[in-house]
Amino acid sequence: MSNEQQTKFIIVTGGVVSSLGKGVASAAVGAILQARGLNVNILKMDPYINIDPGTLSPYQHGEVYVTDDGTETDLDLGHYERFLNQNTSKKSNATTGQIYYMVIKRERNGDYLGKTVQVIPHITDEIKRRILDVPGINGEQTDVVITEVGGTVGDIESLPFLEAIRQLRLDVGANNLINIHLTLVPYIKAAGELKTKPTQHSVMKLREIGIQPDILLCRADRKLNMELKRKIALFCNVPIDAVIDAPDVPTIYEIPLMFHEGGLDEIIVDKLQLKCKKPDLKGWENFVQKCKNPQSEITIAVCGKYVHLHDSYKSIIEAFAHAGVANNTRVTLKWVDSESLEGQDSETALSDVCGLLIPGGFGSRGIEGKINAVRYARKNQIPFFGICLGLQCAVIDFSREVCGLAGANSTEFNESPSHPVIDLMEEQKRIKAKGGTMRLGAQPCVIKKGTRAHQIYGADRISERHRHRLEVNNKYREILEQHGMIISGVNPELDLVEIIELNDHPWFVAVQFHPELKSRALNVHPLFKEFVAAALKFNKKNN
Ligand code: GLN
Repeated sequence: MSNEQQTKFIIVTGGVVSSLGKGVASAAVGAILQARGLNVNILKMDPYINIDPGTLSPYQHGEVYVTDDGTETDLDLGHYERFLNQNTSKKSNATTGQIYYMVIKRERNGDYLGKTVQVIPHITDEIKRRILDVPGINGEQTDVVITEVGGTVGDIESLPFLEAIRQLRLDVGANNLINIHLTLVPYIKAAGELKTKPTQHSVMKLREIGIQPDILLCRADRKLNMELKRKIALFCNVPIDAVIDAPDVPTIYEIPLMFHEGGLDEIIVDKLQLKCKKPDLKGWENFVQKCKNPQSEITIAVCGKYVHLHDSYKSIIEAFAHAGVANNTRVTLKWVDSESLEGQDSETALSDVCGLLIPGGFGSRGIEGKINAVRYARKNQIPFFGICLGLQCAVIDFSREVCGLAGANSTEFNESPSHPVIDLMEEQKRIKAKGGTMRLGAQPCVIKKGTRAHQIYGADRISERHRHRLEVNNKYREILEQHGMIISGVNPELDLVEIIELNDHPWFVAVQFHPELKSRALNVHPLFKEFVAAALKFNKKNN
Protein backbone atom coordinates (compact mmCIF):
# COMPACT_ATOMS: atom_id res chain seq x y z
CA MET A 1 0.00 0.00 0.00
CA SER A 2 1.56 3.10 1.44
CA ASN A 3 2.63 6.61 0.73
CA GLU A 4 -0.92 7.59 -0.14
CA GLN A 5 -2.36 7.56 3.37
CA GLN A 6 -1.12 8.81 6.69
CA THR A 7 0.05 6.37 9.34
CA LYS A 8 -2.74 5.08 11.58
CA PHE A 9 -2.41 3.85 15.14
CA ILE A 10 -3.95 0.93 16.99
CA ILE A 11 -3.42 0.65 20.72
CA VAL A 12 -3.97 -2.69 22.42
CA THR A 13 -4.54 -2.75 26.17
CA GLY A 14 -5.42 -5.65 28.44
CA GLY A 15 -7.93 -5.89 31.24
CA VAL A 16 -9.00 -8.04 34.19
CA VAL A 17 -5.99 -10.39 34.40
CA SER A 18 -2.61 -10.84 32.78
CA SER A 19 -1.72 -13.74 30.47
CA LEU A 20 -4.74 -13.30 28.20
CA GLY A 21 -2.51 -13.40 25.14
CA LYS A 22 -2.28 -9.71 24.33
CA GLY A 23 0.94 -10.25 22.39
CA VAL A 24 -0.59 -12.95 20.22
CA ALA A 25 -3.77 -10.89 19.76
CA SER A 26 -1.74 -7.83 18.67
CA ALA A 27 0.31 -9.98 16.28
CA ALA A 28 -2.87 -11.55 14.87
CA VAL A 29 -4.45 -8.11 14.32
CA GLY A 30 -1.24 -7.19 12.48
CA ALA A 31 -1.41 -10.36 10.39
CA ILE A 32 -4.95 -9.74 9.10
CA LEU A 33 -4.15 -6.14 8.25
CA GLN A 34 -0.99 -7.29 6.49
CA ALA A 35 -3.13 -9.82 4.58
CA ARG A 36 -5.09 -6.80 3.34
CA GLY A 37 -1.93 -5.43 1.76
CA LEU A 38 -1.08 -2.93 4.49
CA ASN A 39 2.37 -2.27 5.91
CA VAL A 40 2.13 -3.00 9.61
CA ASN A 41 4.64 -2.63 12.41
CA ILE A 42 4.24 -3.38 16.12
CA LEU A 43 5.68 -1.87 19.28
CA LYS A 44 5.56 -3.30 22.78
CA MET A 45 5.50 -0.98 25.79
CA ASP A 46 6.64 -2.68 28.99
CA PRO A 47 5.88 -0.83 32.22
CA TYR A 48 8.77 -2.25 34.26
CA ILE A 49 11.86 -0.23 35.21
CA ASN A 50 14.55 -2.55 33.79
CA ILE A 51 16.05 -1.11 30.60
CA ASP A 52 15.41 -4.48 28.97
CA PRO A 53 14.53 -8.01 30.13
CA GLY A 54 18.09 -9.26 29.45
CA THR A 55 18.99 -9.53 33.11
CA LEU A 56 15.67 -11.01 34.26
CA SER A 57 15.35 -14.66 35.23
CA PRO A 58 13.28 -16.79 32.87
CA TYR A 59 11.12 -17.53 35.91
CA GLN A 60 10.18 -13.85 36.05
CA HIS A 61 9.82 -13.06 32.43
CA GLY A 62 9.95 -16.15 30.21
CA GLU A 63 12.17 -16.14 27.16
CA VAL A 64 14.34 -13.16 26.28
CA TYR A 65 13.81 -12.54 22.58
CA VAL A 66 16.82 -11.21 20.67
CA THR A 67 16.43 -9.11 17.54
CA ASP A 68 18.78 -8.90 14.55
CA ASP A 69 20.23 -5.64 15.88
CA GLY A 70 21.17 -7.38 19.13
CA THR A 71 18.52 -5.98 21.47
CA GLU A 72 17.26 -8.21 24.29
CA THR A 73 13.51 -7.82 24.30
CA ASP A 74 10.15 -9.09 25.45
CA LEU A 75 8.99 -12.46 24.16
CA ASP A 76 5.95 -10.85 22.53
CA LEU A 77 8.29 -9.55 19.82
CA GLY A 78 8.72 -13.19 18.86
CA HIS A 79 4.98 -13.39 18.19
CA TYR A 80 5.17 -10.25 16.07
CA GLU A 81 7.96 -11.71 13.94
CA ARG A 82 6.30 -15.12 13.67
CA PHE A 83 2.96 -13.68 12.58
CA LEU A 84 4.21 -10.86 10.38
CA ASN A 85 7.26 -12.60 8.92
CA GLN A 86 9.33 -9.43 9.36
CA ASN A 87 12.11 -8.31 11.68
CA THR A 88 11.65 -6.25 14.81
CA SER A 89 14.40 -4.03 16.23
CA LYS A 90 15.46 -1.98 19.24
CA LYS A 91 12.68 0.43 18.35
CA SER A 92 10.06 -2.31 18.83
CA ASN A 93 10.24 -2.55 22.63
CA ALA A 94 10.11 0.42 25.04
CA THR A 95 10.27 -0.01 28.81
CA THR A 96 9.61 2.49 31.58
CA GLY A 97 13.34 2.22 32.28
CA GLN A 98 14.23 3.35 28.76
CA ILE A 99 11.71 6.19 28.84
CA TYR A 100 12.97 7.59 32.15
CA TYR A 101 16.62 7.02 31.20
CA MET A 102 16.14 9.14 28.08
CA VAL A 103 14.33 11.93 29.94
CA ILE A 104 16.92 12.00 32.74
CA LYS A 105 19.76 12.09 30.21
CA ARG A 106 18.10 15.08 28.53
CA GLU A 107 17.65 16.79 31.87
CA ARG A 108 21.38 16.36 32.67
CA ASN A 109 22.17 17.68 29.24
CA GLY A 110 20.27 20.84 30.05
CA ASP A 111 17.57 20.27 27.44
CA TYR A 112 14.84 21.28 29.89
CA LEU A 113 16.72 24.21 31.46
CA GLY A 114 14.52 26.22 33.79
CA LYS A 115 11.71 23.67 33.83
CA THR A 116 10.53 21.15 36.40
CA VAL A 117 10.72 17.74 34.72
CA GLN A 118 7.45 15.89 35.26
CA VAL A 119 5.51 12.79 34.26
CA ILE A 120 3.16 15.01 32.28
CA PRO A 121 4.36 16.28 29.82
CA HIS A 122 7.98 15.04 29.77
CA ILE A 123 7.53 11.32 30.35
CA THR A 124 4.32 11.18 28.32
CA ASP A 125 6.01 13.11 25.48
CA GLU A 126 8.81 10.56 25.40
CA ILE A 127 6.26 7.70 25.31
CA LYS A 128 4.49 9.37 22.40
CA ARG A 129 7.81 9.93 20.64
CA ARG A 130 8.52 6.19 20.85
CA ILE A 131 5.12 5.34 19.33
CA LEU A 132 5.62 7.86 16.52
CA ASP A 133 9.18 6.65 15.96
CA VAL A 134 8.24 3.11 14.88
CA PRO A 135 10.07 2.62 11.60
CA GLY A 136 8.73 1.79 8.14
CA ILE A 137 8.90 -1.66 6.61
CA ASN A 138 11.43 -2.37 3.85
CA GLY A 139 11.92 1.32 3.21
CA GLU A 140 8.19 1.96 2.86
CA GLN A 141 6.06 4.04 5.16
CA THR A 142 4.09 2.14 7.81
CA ASP A 143 0.34 2.22 7.22
CA VAL A 144 -0.55 0.97 10.68
CA VAL A 145 1.47 1.04 13.90
CA ILE A 146 0.12 -1.30 16.55
CA THR A 147 1.22 -0.53 20.11
CA GLU A 148 0.72 -3.18 22.74
CA VAL A 149 0.73 -1.83 26.28
CA GLY A 150 2.04 -4.44 28.72
CA GLY A 151 0.42 -5.08 32.09
CA THR A 152 -3.22 -4.81 33.02
CA VAL A 153 -5.37 -1.69 33.09
CA GLY A 154 -5.48 -0.51 36.70
CA ASP A 155 -1.77 -1.16 37.36
CA ILE A 156 0.01 1.90 38.77
CA GLU A 157 2.97 1.28 36.44
CA SER A 158 1.00 1.57 33.22
CA LEU A 159 -0.69 4.89 34.04
CA PRO A 160 1.82 7.16 32.20
CA PHE A 161 1.48 4.98 29.09
CA LEU A 162 -2.30 5.21 29.13
CA GLU A 163 -2.17 8.96 29.70
CA ALA A 164 0.20 9.30 26.73
CA ILE A 165 -2.22 7.32 24.58
CA ARG A 166 -5.13 9.51 25.63
CA GLN A 167 -3.12 12.54 24.50
CA LEU A 168 -1.93 10.90 21.30
CA ARG A 169 -5.48 10.44 20.05
CA LEU A 170 -5.98 14.18 20.32
CA ASP A 171 -2.62 14.84 18.66
CA VAL A 172 -3.17 12.60 15.63
CA GLY A 173 -6.95 12.92 15.36
CA ALA A 174 -9.75 10.56 16.34
CA ASN A 175 -9.91 8.99 12.86
CA ASN A 176 -6.30 8.00 13.06
CA LEU A 177 -6.11 6.12 16.35
CA ILE A 178 -8.27 3.40 17.83
CA ASN A 179 -8.15 1.58 21.13
CA ILE A 180 -8.64 -2.17 21.30
CA HIS A 181 -9.15 -3.64 24.74
CA LEU A 182 -8.55 -7.34 25.34
CA THR A 183 -10.64 -8.52 28.23
CA LEU A 184 -11.72 -11.66 30.06
CA VAL A 185 -15.29 -12.93 30.24
CA PRO A 186 -15.02 -15.77 32.76
CA TYR A 187 -17.35 -18.74 32.88
CA ILE A 188 -18.58 -19.24 36.43
CA LYS A 189 -19.34 -22.89 36.88
CA ALA A 190 -21.65 -22.56 39.90
CA ALA A 191 -23.82 -20.07 38.02
CA GLY A 192 -23.45 -21.89 34.71
CA GLU A 193 -22.87 -18.50 33.05
CA LEU A 194 -20.31 -16.24 31.44
CA LYS A 195 -19.93 -13.08 33.49
CA THR A 196 -19.47 -9.59 32.05
CA LYS A 197 -18.83 -7.63 35.26
CA PRO A 198 -15.00 -7.86 35.20
CA THR A 199 -15.08 -6.47 31.65
CA GLN A 200 -17.40 -3.65 32.69
CA HIS A 201 -15.04 -2.72 35.52
CA SER A 202 -11.97 -2.88 33.36
CA VAL A 203 -13.52 -0.59 30.74
CA MET A 204 -14.68 1.72 33.54
CA LYS A 205 -11.03 1.98 34.68
CA LEU A 206 -10.00 2.91 31.14
CA ARG A 207 -12.73 5.50 30.84
CA GLU A 208 -11.69 7.06 34.17
CA ILE A 209 -8.36 7.85 32.50
CA GLY A 210 -10.16 9.25 29.48
CA ILE A 211 -9.83 6.30 27.10
CA GLN A 212 -12.97 4.91 25.50
CA PRO A 213 -12.19 1.58 23.85
CA ASP A 214 -13.40 1.29 20.25
CA ILE A 215 -13.26 -2.50 20.09
CA LEU A 216 -13.43 -5.20 22.76
CA LEU A 217 -11.79 -8.57 22.20
CA CYS A 218 -13.48 -10.92 24.62
CA ARG A 219 -11.36 -13.83 25.83
CA ALA A 220 -13.55 -16.65 27.05
CA ASP A 221 -13.54 -20.43 26.97
CA ARG A 222 -16.38 -20.21 24.42
CA LYS A 223 -18.16 -17.79 22.09
CA LEU A 224 -20.50 -15.18 23.56
CA ASN A 225 -24.18 -15.21 22.63
CA MET A 226 -25.95 -12.12 21.27
CA GLU A 227 -27.55 -11.28 24.57
CA LEU A 228 -24.18 -11.13 26.32
CA LYS A 229 -22.67 -9.08 23.53
CA ARG A 230 -25.57 -6.65 23.76
CA LYS A 231 -25.02 -6.31 27.50
CA ILE A 232 -21.28 -5.71 27.13
CA ALA A 233 -21.91 -3.20 24.34
CA LEU A 234 -24.40 -1.28 26.45
CA PHE A 235 -22.37 -1.16 29.65
CA CYS A 236 -19.05 -0.53 27.95
CA ASN A 237 -20.35 2.03 25.48
CA VAL A 238 -19.19 0.28 22.29
CA PRO A 239 -21.24 -0.72 19.21
CA ILE A 240 -22.34 -4.34 19.36
CA ASP A 241 -20.40 -5.35 16.24
CA ALA A 242 -17.24 -4.15 17.99
CA VAL A 243 -17.66 -6.79 20.69
CA ILE A 244 -15.54 -9.53 19.15
CA ASP A 245 -15.22 -13.14 20.26
CA ALA A 246 -11.79 -14.40 21.21
CA PRO A 247 -12.46 -17.93 22.48
CA ASP A 248 -9.71 -20.45 23.18
CA VAL A 249 -8.51 -22.10 19.98
CA PRO A 250 -6.40 -25.23 19.42
CA THR A 251 -3.60 -23.30 17.70
CA ILE A 252 -2.70 -19.61 18.06
CA TYR A 253 -2.23 -19.44 14.29
CA GLU A 254 -5.99 -19.75 13.92
CA ILE A 255 -6.50 -16.38 15.61
CA PRO A 256 -6.11 -14.20 12.48
CA LEU A 257 -8.80 -16.35 10.82
CA MET A 258 -11.03 -16.19 13.88
CA PHE A 259 -10.72 -12.41 14.12
CA HIS A 260 -11.49 -12.06 10.45
CA GLU A 261 -14.57 -14.25 10.83
CA GLY A 262 -15.68 -12.02 13.70
CA GLY A 263 -15.44 -8.99 11.41
CA LEU A 264 -12.52 -7.38 13.24
CA ASP A 265 -10.54 -6.23 10.21
CA GLU A 266 -13.64 -4.66 8.62
CA ILE A 267 -14.29 -2.62 11.76
CA ILE A 268 -10.66 -1.50 12.00
CA VAL A 269 -10.53 -0.54 8.33
CA ASP A 270 -13.80 1.32 8.66
CA LYS A 271 -12.90 3.20 11.85
CA LEU A 272 -9.45 4.19 10.62
CA GLN A 273 -10.69 4.88 7.10
CA LEU A 274 -7.96 2.69 5.65
CA LYS A 275 -7.81 2.17 1.92
CA CYS A 276 -7.01 -1.48 1.26
CA LYS A 277 -8.09 -4.69 -0.45
CA LYS A 278 -10.01 -7.65 1.00
CA PRO A 279 -7.68 -9.94 2.96
CA ASP A 280 -5.84 -12.83 1.37
CA LEU A 281 -5.68 -15.38 4.17
CA LYS A 282 -4.85 -18.46 2.10
CA GLY A 283 -1.43 -18.92 3.71
CA TRP A 284 -3.00 -18.96 7.17
CA GLU A 285 -5.88 -21.22 6.11
CA ASN A 286 -3.45 -23.69 4.65
CA PHE A 287 -1.22 -23.62 7.75
CA VAL A 288 -4.13 -24.14 10.14
CA GLN A 289 -5.63 -26.89 8.01
CA LYS A 290 -2.30 -28.78 8.07
CA CYS A 291 -1.79 -28.09 11.75
CA LYS A 292 -5.17 -29.60 12.61
CA ASN A 293 -4.81 -32.63 10.34
CA PRO A 294 -1.33 -34.08 10.84
CA GLN A 295 -0.57 -37.38 9.15
CA SER A 296 1.56 -38.68 11.99
CA GLU A 297 2.72 -37.81 15.46
CA ILE A 298 6.23 -37.87 16.91
CA THR A 299 7.71 -37.07 20.29
CA ILE A 300 10.87 -35.04 20.73
CA ALA A 301 12.55 -34.53 24.09
CA VAL A 302 13.58 -31.06 25.20
CA CYS A 303 16.07 -31.31 28.03
CA GLY A 304 16.64 -28.13 30.02
CA LYS A 305 16.40 -26.65 33.47
CA TYR A 306 13.37 -24.38 33.01
CA VAL A 307 11.12 -27.15 31.68
CA HIS A 308 8.35 -26.37 34.16
CA LEU A 309 8.02 -22.93 32.67
CA HIS A 310 7.29 -23.32 28.99
CA ASP A 311 7.39 -19.56 28.35
CA SER A 312 11.17 -19.82 28.74
CA TYR A 313 11.27 -21.84 25.54
CA LYS A 314 8.54 -19.99 23.64
CA SER A 315 10.36 -19.62 20.32
CA ILE A 316 11.49 -23.26 20.39
CA ILE A 317 7.93 -24.47 20.97
CA GLU A 318 6.67 -22.33 18.08
CA ALA A 319 9.52 -23.35 15.77
CA PHE A 320 8.50 -26.98 16.35
CA ALA A 321 4.88 -26.08 15.53
CA HIS A 322 6.07 -24.57 12.22
CA ALA A 323 8.34 -27.54 11.49
CA GLY A 324 5.53 -30.00 12.31
CA VAL A 325 3.27 -28.36 9.74
CA ALA A 326 6.09 -28.32 7.17
CA ASN A 327 6.46 -32.09 7.69
CA ASN A 328 2.72 -32.89 7.98
CA THR A 329 3.25 -34.22 11.46
CA ARG A 330 2.37 -33.25 15.02
CA VAL A 331 5.41 -32.74 17.22
CA THR A 332 4.75 -33.49 20.86
CA LEU A 333 7.44 -32.19 23.17
CA LYS A 334 8.52 -34.29 26.12
CA TRP A 335 9.97 -31.98 28.75
CA VAL A 336 12.90 -33.57 30.54
CA ASP A 337 14.31 -31.84 33.60
CA SER A 338 18.09 -31.92 33.15
CA GLU A 339 18.65 -32.20 36.90
CA SER A 340 16.71 -35.45 36.93
CA LEU A 341 19.31 -36.94 34.57
CA GLU A 342 22.32 -36.11 36.73
CA GLY A 343 24.36 -39.09 37.89
CA GLN A 344 22.41 -41.62 35.86
CA ASP A 345 22.12 -42.68 32.27
CA SER A 346 19.35 -41.20 30.19
CA GLU A 347 17.72 -44.41 28.99
CA THR A 348 14.45 -44.07 30.91
CA ALA A 349 13.79 -40.51 29.85
CA LEU A 350 14.89 -40.84 26.24
CA SER A 351 14.06 -44.39 25.18
CA ASP A 352 10.64 -43.40 23.81
CA VAL A 353 11.55 -40.25 21.84
CA CYS A 354 12.49 -39.73 18.18
CA GLY A 355 14.80 -36.81 18.78
CA LEU A 356 16.51 -34.77 21.49
CA LEU A 357 16.90 -31.01 21.61
CA ILE A 358 19.08 -29.28 24.17
CA PRO A 359 18.20 -25.59 24.24
CA GLY A 360 20.14 -22.56 25.47
CA GLY A 361 20.68 -21.95 29.16
CA PHE A 362 22.87 -20.40 31.81
CA GLY A 363 24.54 -21.68 34.99
CA SER A 364 25.73 -25.06 36.15
CA ARG A 365 22.51 -26.53 37.56
CA GLY A 366 21.56 -29.68 35.65
CA ILE A 367 24.52 -29.43 33.29
CA GLU A 368 25.83 -32.97 33.80
CA GLY A 369 22.30 -34.23 33.10
CA LYS A 370 22.35 -32.46 29.73
CA ILE A 371 25.78 -33.88 28.91
CA ASN A 372 24.46 -37.38 29.77
CA ALA A 373 21.48 -36.81 27.49
CA VAL A 374 23.67 -35.78 24.51
CA ARG A 375 25.84 -38.82 25.07
CA TYR A 376 22.80 -41.10 25.02
CA ALA A 377 21.55 -39.54 21.77
CA ARG A 378 25.00 -39.73 20.20
CA LYS A 379 25.57 -43.36 21.11
CA ASN A 380 22.05 -44.52 20.30
CA GLN A 381 21.83 -42.75 16.95
CA ILE A 382 18.89 -40.60 18.08
CA PRO A 383 18.58 -37.36 16.08
CA PHE A 384 20.15 -34.59 18.16
CA PHE A 385 19.87 -30.83 17.85
CA GLY A 386 21.89 -28.60 20.17
CA ILE A 387 21.28 -24.88 20.53
CA CYS A 388 23.86 -22.60 22.17
CA LEU A 389 24.42 -24.30 25.55
CA GLY A 390 23.28 -27.47 23.72
CA LEU A 391 26.27 -27.14 21.39
CA GLN A 392 28.56 -26.53 24.33
CA CYS A 393 27.29 -29.72 26.05
CA ALA A 394 27.84 -31.71 22.84
CA VAL A 395 31.44 -30.47 22.62
CA ILE A 396 32.08 -31.31 26.30
CA ASP A 397 30.70 -34.85 25.87
CA PHE A 398 32.67 -35.43 22.67
CA SER A 399 35.89 -34.11 24.24
CA ARG A 400 35.56 -36.32 27.28
CA GLU A 401 34.36 -39.51 25.61
CA VAL A 402 35.75 -39.48 22.08
CA CYS A 403 38.87 -37.31 22.39
CA GLY A 404 39.74 -38.78 25.78
CA LEU A 405 40.02 -35.41 27.53
CA ALA A 406 38.64 -36.59 30.86
CA GLY A 407 38.46 -33.23 32.61
CA ALA A 408 36.91 -31.33 29.68
CA ASN A 409 34.43 -28.68 30.75
CA SER A 410 33.21 -25.13 30.23
CA THR A 411 34.74 -22.39 32.35
CA GLU A 412 31.16 -21.33 33.08
CA PHE A 413 30.81 -24.43 35.29
CA ASN A 414 34.36 -24.97 36.50
CA GLU A 415 36.76 -22.04 36.80
CA SER A 416 39.88 -24.00 35.87
CA PRO A 417 39.11 -27.35 34.29
CA SER A 418 42.02 -29.42 32.98
CA HIS A 419 40.58 -28.91 29.47
CA PRO A 420 38.60 -25.68 29.05
CA VAL A 421 37.00 -26.73 25.75
CA ILE A 422 34.37 -24.01 26.18
CA ASP A 423 35.75 -20.69 27.34
CA LEU A 424 35.14 -16.95 27.44
CA MET A 425 36.42 -14.87 24.54
CA GLU A 426 39.16 -12.39 25.54
CA GLU A 427 36.78 -9.41 25.14
CA GLN A 428 34.23 -11.09 27.41
CA LYS A 429 36.82 -11.63 30.17
CA ARG A 430 37.11 -7.85 30.62
CA ILE A 431 33.37 -7.23 30.85
CA LYS A 432 31.94 -6.65 34.32
CA ALA A 433 28.50 -5.11 33.67
CA LYS A 434 25.76 -7.63 32.96
CA GLY A 435 23.19 -5.63 30.96
CA GLY A 436 23.39 -5.99 27.16
CA THR A 437 27.02 -7.17 27.19
CA MET A 438 26.78 -10.69 25.78
CA ARG A 439 27.60 -11.54 22.17
CA LEU A 440 24.24 -10.44 20.83
CA GLY A 441 22.29 -10.26 17.61
CA ALA A 442 22.77 -11.25 14.00
CA GLN A 443 26.24 -12.33 12.95
CA PRO A 444 27.48 -13.97 9.76
CA CYS A 445 28.45 -17.62 9.50
CA VAL A 446 30.25 -19.25 6.59
CA ILE A 447 29.21 -22.84 5.90
CA LYS A 448 31.55 -25.54 4.64
CA LYS A 449 30.48 -27.17 1.39
CA GLY A 450 29.59 -30.85 1.49
CA THR A 451 28.35 -30.73 5.10
CA ARG A 452 24.86 -31.43 6.40
CA ALA A 453 24.56 -27.77 7.40
CA HIS A 454 25.28 -26.73 3.81
CA GLN A 455 22.67 -29.14 2.53
CA ILE A 456 20.11 -27.85 5.06
CA TYR A 457 20.65 -24.14 4.42
CA GLY A 458 21.47 -24.45 0.72
CA ALA A 459 23.79 -21.47 1.16
CA ASP A 460 27.49 -20.69 1.71
CA ARG A 461 26.86 -17.80 4.07
CA ILE A 462 24.04 -17.25 6.54
CA SER A 463 23.16 -14.84 9.32
CA GLU A 464 21.83 -15.98 12.69
CA ARG A 465 21.16 -14.38 16.07
CA HIS A 466 23.35 -14.86 19.14
CA ARG A 467 22.99 -14.51 22.90
CA HIS A 468 25.90 -15.98 24.85
CA ARG A 469 29.30 -15.19 26.36
CA LEU A 470 31.24 -18.43 25.94
CA GLU A 471 32.61 -20.09 22.80
CA VAL A 472 34.24 -23.30 21.65
CA ASN A 473 37.90 -22.82 22.60
CA ASN A 474 39.85 -22.57 19.33
CA LYS A 475 42.82 -24.33 20.96
CA TYR A 476 40.78 -27.55 20.90
CA ARG A 477 39.47 -27.31 17.35
CA GLU A 478 42.18 -29.47 15.87
CA ILE A 479 41.77 -32.33 18.34
CA LEU A 480 37.99 -32.25 17.95
CA GLU A 481 38.30 -32.43 14.16
CA GLN A 482 40.94 -35.16 14.34
CA HIS A 483 38.44 -37.29 16.23
CA GLY A 484 35.68 -36.80 13.68
CA MET A 485 33.77 -33.71 14.77
CA ILE A 486 32.93 -31.62 11.72
CA ILE A 487 33.07 -27.88 12.20
CA SER A 488 30.66 -26.96 9.45
CA GLY A 489 30.01 -23.30 10.26
CA VAL A 490 32.46 -20.59 11.34
CA ASN A 491 32.13 -16.87 11.98
CA PRO A 492 34.36 -15.38 9.28
CA GLU A 493 35.23 -12.21 11.21
CA LEU A 494 35.88 -13.63 14.66
CA ASP A 495 36.93 -17.13 13.57
CA LEU A 496 34.57 -18.77 16.06
CA VAL A 497 32.84 -22.14 15.80
CA GLU A 498 29.16 -21.68 14.91
CA ILE A 499 27.97 -25.11 13.73
CA ILE A 500 29.23 -28.61 14.50
CA GLU A 501 28.01 -31.97 13.23
CA LEU A 502 28.87 -35.67 13.29
CA ASN A 503 28.62 -37.85 10.23
CA ASP A 504 28.61 -41.32 11.79
CA HIS A 505 25.14 -40.48 13.05
CA PRO A 506 21.73 -40.03 11.35
CA TRP A 507 21.38 -36.36 12.42
CA PHE A 508 23.63 -34.70 14.94
CA VAL A 509 23.83 -30.94 14.49
CA ALA A 510 24.51 -28.23 17.06
CA VAL A 511 24.69 -24.48 16.65
CA GLN A 512 26.11 -21.69 18.78
CA PHE A 513 23.35 -19.30 17.68
CA HIS A 514 19.56 -19.32 18.21
CA PRO A 515 17.77 -20.44 15.03
CA GLU A 516 14.43 -20.64 16.88
CA LEU A 517 14.32 -16.83 16.89
CA LYS A 518 14.04 -16.74 13.12
CA SER A 519 11.39 -19.39 12.46
CA ARG A 520 8.10 -17.95 11.25
CA ALA A 521 4.73 -19.65 10.83
CA LEU A 522 4.69 -19.21 7.08
CA ASN A 523 8.47 -19.40 6.72
CA VAL A 524 9.82 -22.28 8.81
CA HIS A 525 13.49 -22.36 9.83
CA PRO A 526 15.37 -24.99 7.77
CA LEU A 527 17.19 -26.48 10.79
CA PHE A 528 13.94 -27.18 12.63
CA LYS A 529 12.30 -28.48 9.47
CA GLU A 530 15.14 -30.91 8.79
CA PHE A 531 15.50 -31.98 12.42
CA VAL A 532 11.81 -32.93 12.51
CA ALA A 533 12.21 -34.73 9.16
CA ALA A 534 15.09 -36.73 10.69
CA ALA A 535 12.98 -37.53 13.77
CA LEU A 536 10.19 -38.77 11.49
CA LYS A 537 12.65 -41.02 9.68
CA PHE A 538 13.90 -42.34 13.02
CA ASN A 539 10.30 -43.04 14.02
CA LYS A 540 9.57 -45.00 10.83
CA LYS A 541 12.71 -47.05 11.20
CA ASN A 542 12.23 -47.89 14.86
CA ASN A 543 8.48 -48.31 15.25
N1 GLN B 1 25.67 -20.01 29.10
C1 GLN B 1 26.22 -20.15 27.81
C2 GLN B 1 26.99 -18.90 27.36
O1 GLN B 1 26.81 -17.85 27.93
C3 GLN B 1 25.14 -20.46 26.80
C4 GLN B 1 24.16 -19.34 26.58
C5 GLN B 1 22.94 -19.76 25.83
O2 GLN B 1 22.66 -20.95 25.73
N2 GLN B 1 22.16 -18.81 25.37
O3 GLN B 1 27.75 -18.96 26.43
